[in-house]
Amino acid sequence: MQTPTATLSCRCGACRIALVDPRPRARSECYCHDCRQRGLIAAGRDPANALPAAVRRFERGIDLYYFANALVVDDDACALLAFSKLRADANNTTAMAACCGTLMCGVHPAYLGHSISVNADSCRLQGVPPLANQVVLFGCDIPAAAWQARCARADVPMIYSVAAEAGAPAMVALLTALTTPVDAALLRAPRVTTFEALATAAGVRLDDSCFEESRAMAASGD
Ligand SMILES: [Zn+2]
Ligand SMILES: [Zn+2]
Repeated sequence: MQTPTATLSCRCGACRIALVDPRPRARSECYCHDCRQRGLIAAGRDPANALPAAVRRFERGIDLYYFANALVVDDDACALLAFSKLRADANNTTAMAACCGTLMCGVHPAYLGHSISVNADSCRLQGVPPLANQVVLFGCDIPAAAWQARCARADVPMIYSVAAEAGAPAMVALLTALTTPVDAALLRAPRVTTFEALATAAGVRLDDSCFEESRAMAASGD
């Protein structure tokens, strides 16, 4: 296997993850409380990680790309990856770059181990083909007026409640893309690993800081 040329890179450039398959599997815009909370945690590490103004004002959600869970990480980058969950019963596990607090990527059990999510407002994508946003998620987590304004300029399907609208065509398409198995030959290639293997080796800690702040922003509209 050739060394992958598509990478996830932290803000300072010290931490890089190579994507064996550079093609985005899907792209969404997420308004959920937890994405916002993770963004605030990253901002707490370095002001350069502050939420984009449009995200802060609920004009758009966090920009999420999804890729096949087949990664190449060298030893230096591996040592910089810190894995955490917001709470013991939280679904997502996130890898943060310890050097600068960039949110590198994450997983959710619904992906069945086949995909990673990447917050493109925090992490830098290089060598990745463009893909238009496909769906807006978690309108239930932002002020009603902000959701109405976002819906008024909707150019993709809008999902108010992910739980209640799991059968919506856009949700089915998203989950189908994210649960497509990675080519087994890719995973057997030398040096290729998965998010879960890296997290298991490094250990996963809990960090629920910024919980109140993230929810208060949504309640107040700021
Ligand atoms: Zn960094
Ligand atoms: Zn989210």
